[in-house]
Amino acid sequence: MAFALPDLCDVRDPDRWKEGPRRPTRDLKDKMRFAEVPRAALPTRFGEFTIYGFRDEDTGEEAVALVAGEIRPDSAILVRIHSQCLTGDVFASRRCDCQDQLYAALELIAGSGVGVLVYQQQEGRGIGLINKIRAYELQDQGLDTVAANEELGFQPDERQYEFSAEILKYLGASRVRLLSNNPDKVKGLESAGIVVEERLPLEIPPDASTRYYLEAKKRRLGHILTGV
Ligand SMILES: [Zn+2]
Repeated sequence: MAFALPDLCDVRDPDRWKEGPRRPTRDLKDKMRFAEVPRAALPTRFGEFTIYGFRDEDTGEEAVALVAGEIRPDSAILVRIHSQCLTGDVFASRRCDCQDQLYAALELIAGSGVGVLVYQQQEGRGIGLINKIRAYELQDQGLDTVAANEELGFQPDERQYEFSAEILKYLGASRVRLLSNNPDKVKGLESAGIVVEERLPLEIPPDASTRYYLEAKKRRLGHILTGV
């Protein structure tokens, strides 16, 4: 099978990339449908999880949830909504703190005995993988992470949390203690019907390579970061 290479056209032509991998907007009244939800045991270095696979039949968006322990609807459980970051999660990039956050969250959730990590495939704060590389190209020319997204014609953060909220409801986790530094994520989940009883910080100490990125997240995106 042949793979199509991405078109390496001039990154400074923002009109060309404005469309991006946008997801169709859903009418909030529509109930999300999960045709089937496969599940399997997933032992990890952090502990034992059950992995569930979700697909939104309307938009085609896919996500997985790693569940530790037995969820009981009467208690607020530890939850992390992690947005895919191929470069960080898989390649251990030091441009961001994503892998450290992912691993810390899995360790905390497994250690707490019961909890959920939803892994949503909204790469690059929702702009998609290739656009994220374009944004990195602009960052290498001096723009920060927000200015780079805007230069490409995107919002600073394009992520949506409705799909993840539906996954949490399906799993019986409508009340959560959310591991996040991002107030917008709290708002997004709450407006989709999840009760966030507590926000728990998930702060990775900055180092020389991540400090500028984390400063931009704090200053430009309003993330609550006490260490930068
Ligand atoms: Zn990342």
